[in-house]
Amino acid sequence: MSALVLDGKSLSAATEAELSERVSALKAKNGGQAPILATILVGGDPASATYVKMKQNACKRIGMDSTKVEMGEDTTTEQLLEKIQELNANPNCHGILLQHPVPPQIDERACFDAIALAKDVDGVTCLGFGRMAMGEEAFGSATPQGIMRILEAYNIELSGKHAVVVGRSPILGKPMSLMLLNADATVTICHSRTKNLPDLIKQADILVGAVGRPEFIKAEWIKDGAVVVDAGYHPGGVGDIELAPLANRVSAYTPVPGGVGPMTINTLILQCVVAAERASAN
Ligand code: NAP
Repeated sequence: MSALVLDGKSLSAATEAELSERVSALKAKNGGQAPILATILVGGDPASATYVKMKQNACKRIGMDSTKVEMGEDTTTEQLLEKIQELNANPNCHGILLQHPVPPQIDERACFDAIALAKDVDGVTCLGFGRMAMGEEAFGSATPQGIMRILEAYNIELSGKHAVVVGRSPILGKPMSLMLLNADATVTICHSRTKNLPDLIKQADILVGAVGRPEFIKAEWIKDGAVVVDAGYHPGGVGDIELAPLANRVSAYTPVPGGVGPMTINTLILQCVVAAERASAN
């Protein structure tokens, strides 16, 4: 059996084509004004700077604008909160991305939660998370929402399936688990204190690896025919799951690179376009 490749690169490219048209329509309606994503980068972490740049480039590709906010390594929580409030109040800013992680002196949770719900296009607020969990309207956390979109695009059946999510971070494992639950999967959430991890993974019809360790999840732990989603990305182009031996054994998998990664950025810009459409309809 040759596994179906869940191709996030192609899906995000196709979605970008559709988003470009929606941005053109917004511009035509609003006197040439494009939707604007504000990106906030605090400190000098080179990986974070690269991620922000990739997000700005994605905006550009679909004709959207982005406003770059860069703040120093010694920024305080109060200074960052003030900047977020300024962007919340700015009608020309439709979405706010606060790049994670921020320097340690900053209360990141307080800053995430200061983002107005309507502009929380990266899905990081507690309010948005709670609404999503309750099945109410909210922008989903970008990476797990991107994973849900790719599973849907490839008609992966979730209802009644046993989904095992390895990782419980606020931006990934936790929202992922609730999204799968809301899609009627039976969900097991694993973390660093979980016992018998290989045994639990063996039960997975759908496996999501969000551990943050290169190829930590071994191919031999995964049952034949499973659907495998690897959220990880590490130097050398490997993810959190040992994928190479699985290509002829599982039913579908997200490649690394080109699976989950492009879907994350794509979901961010998709949600920003939706936010701009809503603002324009008011
Ligand atoms: P994180 O905040 O470091 O969380 C890692 C999770 O893995 C934690 O919940 C941790 O458990 C769990 N874990 C650690 N060691 C474990 C072990 N031995 N057994 C079982 N669980 C273990 O990472 P994250 O931000 O969620 O990211 C996870 C992965 O996704 C990383 O590889 C990251 O690069 C990738 N990622 C990709 C994108 C993208 O756009 N493609 C976006 C974000 C993240 P505890 O809670 O008990 O500590």
